[in-house]
Amino acid sequence: MLQIYNTLSRQKEYFKPLHEGHVGMYVCGPTVYGDAHLGHARPAITFDLLYRYLMHLGYKVRYVRNITDVGHLEHDADEGEDKIAKKARLEQLEPMEVVQYFTNRYHHDMELLNVLPPSIEPHASGHIIEQIAFVQKIMDKGYAYVSNGSVYMDVEKYAKDYPYGKLSGRNLEDIVTETRELDGQQEKKHSFDFALWKKAAPEHIMHWPSPWSEGFPGWHMECSAMGTKYLGEQFDIHGGGMDLMFPHHEAEIAQSCAALGHDSVHYWMHNNMITIAGKKMGKSYNNFITLEQFFAGNHHLLEQPFSPMTIRFFILQAHYRSTVDFSNDALVAAEKGLARLTEAYQRLMKIKASDATSEHLNPELLNSLRTRCQEAMDDDLNSPIVISHLFDSARAINTVFDGKGTISEADLEELRAVWKTYAMDILGLQLDGAQDAGAGMDAYKGAVDMLLNMRLEAKRNKDWGTSDKIRNELTALGFTIKDTKDGFEWSL
Ligand code: ZN
Repeated sequence: MLQIYNTLSRQKEYFKPLHEGHVGMYVCGPTVYGDAHLGHARPAITFDLLYRYLMHLGYKVRYVRNITDVGHLEHDADEGEDKIAKKARLEQLEPMEVVQYFTNRYHHDMELLNVLPPSIEPHASGHIIEQIAFVQKIMDKGYAYVSNGSVYMDVEKYAKDYPYGKLSGRNLEDIVTETRELDGQQEKKHSFDFALWKKAAPEHIMHWPSPWSEGFPGWHMECSAMGTKYLGEQFDIHGGGMDLMFPHHEAEIAQSCAALGHDSVHYWMHNNMITIAGKKMGKSYNNFITLEQFFAGNHHLLEQPFSPMTIRFFILQAHYRSTVDFSNDALVAAEKGLARLTEAYQRLMKIKASDATSEHLNPELLNSLRTRCQEAMDDDLNSPIVISHLFDSARAINTVFDGKGTISEADLEELRAVWKTYAMDILGLQLDGAQDAGAGMDAYKGAVDMLLNMRLEAKRNKDWGTSDKIRNELTALGFTIKDTKDGFEWSL
């Protein structure tokens, strides 16, 4: 039975959904004002693993992952201007053009990482009405106040009736000392009050009418409003990166309790962070690497390109609640590990069963592989253990491949089924190599180039037979070959 670590209770709990056979799951998605980086890959892959595993267990999952496009989450403290609005103003674009551009790029990156699309992907900007209604509910319950056209959560009043800070383990005194002086402090009763609705400054280009002012929803409102809209007043799982625990998720809990009278979420799950050479990722450290830069290998911290599957494997090699330290060497090691796994998978598809029984293989290892993989996944999604079990069984595959052992029909079938289920479907590793845009792709391109260079040489030697043969056979395989002044061009 699946156990997951609930951040709220600080322990592993048996997962029991609110409605039998169905799971409602909400994960905080990206802010689309720039390209996705390594820090975006981890929550996306962590909750993709959970989504895939829940479906494997037979649940019907409604997975909601939002797009933050109102921009306020990344408020530029230096300039006091919304990032999306700023980019739009500088580049003379409609804000929604900026949003669409980066949303498309995010989707492309996720597809390369083999992250399944969520069931619903709501945009904050498309749910202003729901957010206003949610703020109104909090107002009606008396836990919010209006100041100069903005609406703030009355945290002191709320904290008298509900435990504020229970998710992150903070109390109000901690929060007072932590709260940075940000814009709007003069309007608030207390520094720890947070905005539910903000009146827009004249230069702010993303704003909507509301009962309080022409403005925009506060930091945390979108997830409360959209989570409730699509998953109901109570739902099973809310996930996100650990960095969102405070203030974002703490504020969400407060908003839900204030508006609805109870918490919405049963299991809070948080993935740990990725550090780079022991440091937090961030613009100020000059160590911000976008996923595109990983795939292309063009960043000063990278010595080579890394395929999306290498990035996925690198992240899954660690348990989602432990920290992961990125370095070029760590990725090279992940690339090697993935290559060994890919080789084993491809051998597994090639080896033939013997007429007799399996010999010179560890029968225990074969018989218990599926159970051990399941036990590891049931233990709070322990992907590194699943990977180590797959490596163990790779030894058996290699023994048969090298002719040093035999495998029975039934054992071979089961082994293939376990690899397909756990490596491909649940871990989401594309071991068939079909979509490997990294090293495999380079080798394949190199091979086609080599053939076409041989054809070029044949033509120079007036060896039309060889030249035509290469051309015709590549064409038959689906390649389009074009002769150019300097040589050739090809595409598939
Ligand atoms: Zn959120």
